[in-house]
Amino acid sequence: PYTGPSAADISAKRKEFLSPSMFHFYNKPVNVVHGKMQYLFDENGRRYLDAFGGIATVCCGHCHPDVVKAIVKQTQNLQHSTILYLNHAITDFAEALASKLPGDLKVVFFTNSGTEANELAMMMARLYTGSHDIISLRNAYHGNAAATMGATAQSNWKYNVIQSGVHHAINPDPYRGLFGSDGEKYAHDVEDLIQFGTSGHVAAFISEAIQGVGGIVELAPGYLPAVYSSIRKAGGLCIADEVQSGFARTGSHFWGFETQHVVPDIVTMAKGIGNGIPLGAVVTTPKVAEVLTRRSYFNTFGGNPVCTAAGLAVLQVIERENLQENANIVGSYLKQRLISLKDKHEIIGDVRGRGLMLGVELVTDRQLKTPAKAEILQVMEQMKDMGVLIGKGGFYGNVFRITPPLCFNREDADYLVDVMDYAMSKL
Ligand code: PMP
Repeated sequence: PYTGPSAADISAKRKEFLSPSMFHFYNKPVNVVHGKMQYLFDENGRRYLDAFGGIATVCCGHCHPDVVKAIVKQTQNLQHSTILYLNHAITDFAEALASKLPGDLKVVFFTNSGTEANELAMMMARLYTGSHDIISLRNAYHGNAAATMGATAQSNWKYNVIQSGVHHAINPDPYRGLFGSDGEKYAHDVEDLIQFGTSGHVAAFISEAIQGVGGIVELAPGYLPAVYSSIRKAGGLCIADEVQSGFARTGSHFWGFETQHVVPDIVTMAKGIGNGIPLGAVVTTPKVAEVLTRRSYFNTFGGNPVCTAAGLAVLQVIERENLQENANIVGSYLKQRLISLKDKHEIIGDVRGRGLMLGVELVTDRQLKTPAKAEILQVMEQMKDMGVLIGKGGFYGNVFRITPPLCFNREDADYLVDVMDYAMSKL
């Protein structure tokens, strides 16, 4: 049994000693003391089904024994910086990771987070092309350092500091967007931005294939092929941010960009790559990677032996346990059940996403698509009380984000939908 500090003690200390910007879910936040696969446990031993842990990093399941074993073994053996000496952990993982990527994408740079990965990707694109302008999508989240906050395009995550050289294109959002699901129409806006907002030359285009923080927005079909072609004509590189949509989450594919049948020039990743361990990566071609030989470049802990040992174990678990196939089968089943819930509850405006990256958008009026901001909080709180933890996002905060560990099964899916159904019936 848990004998540590109570939830109230921890809350008080957070207020006193941690940044006031720290937020938590729920009126009465859960004190999570233990995790096991798709479950979390609070201080009283109460079990919760975790339908959001995937976003927070866990793809194989909380404390997956094989990943834990790899981390412990490496920690007992050596933990050190990546620079200066040889060690096989980093090369083993880089080789395994590169084998999961198409084409010439085989040079890996390791970082400690998604922000760092995107910062590096954008810098490399600027160096490689000699251009400064970058195009990203409205509603995107790419990180919170200088360049990545510039690429991020939601006012709630942006601070008023200088963010230069980024143009934000119209979001190809099939539910709220101007052109519905017509990806090519949205792509014209990128062409316009290049013509009217830049010198005609750009450094890069960066986007997620399915926006995570943005509320599980799957880019309209046909969008990325058209945009990649415009960007390349303008001399730019195409960056795929796979921080959320990568690592088998979409079920149908290992990487989100594959759902749009494109091959990027740079791919960035984090979160699920380490199953909870801080790890990020940038993968690119040997030609683009060359730019980092112009000066010295290093990252003290990016790719350290413990994190890369974890990363390799994660890839092995995904393969051994057929987690991509599971995401596909369980995700499709869950999506169908959520779609049937839409027939029953007027408040559900849209059900979307792929595999185990699903979104349920709540609106108080289906015609006007008025965000159901208060209602979503009520449903979320009730679901928590019934033992289901779910995420929330989107610009208006009215979209449920369902991104569980990839070991989520059919019974878990049924339980989640039944609980959501009940909570919605109490509105
Ligand atoms: N890209 C995407 C798509 C993300 O969702 C996030 C984090 N929410 C990041 C980048 C930044 O990652 P990190 O928080 O690890 O810096």
